[in-house]
Amino acid sequence: MDRFKKFMEDRTGVDHLSLALLILSIVLVLIGMVFRWSMVRFLSLIPLVLCYYRAFSKNKLKRHQENILFLKYWYPIQTKMMNKYRHLKARRQYKYFKCKECGQQLRVPRKKGKIEITCPKCRHTFIKKT
Ligand SMILES: [Zn+2]
Repeated sequence: MDRFKKFMEDRTGVDHLSLALLILSIVLVLIGMVFRWSMVRFLSLIPLVLCYYRAFSKNKLKRHQENILFLKYWYPIQTKMMNKYRHLKARRQYKYFKCKECGQQLRVPRKKGKIEITCPKCRHTFIKKT
């Protein structure tokens, strides 16, 4: 274990980009297996080799710059996906209604039976099943 630690000392190791390459490789292997596309399975080696190359590279500065560039594009995508997930989760927990008087969108918890809803904006009340 100490020898491996010493070996990795001045090397990049696994960063976000390497992990993404590894995941891409696994996804390609699975796609290749499911659809029996041997070419895709073969292509999955490219991100895998890049992943290993980056992890064992001694040019830490260059690999760090690549990782920063990757994260610059990845974080907005990740944020969008997280927001979509939160939105879907909220859809399962809440029911949405529109106030007939003022058009305000109202959110009420689901599975509460028939409840009286009061619009906080115009105080209009109505009964709905949740
Ligand atoms: Zn209203």
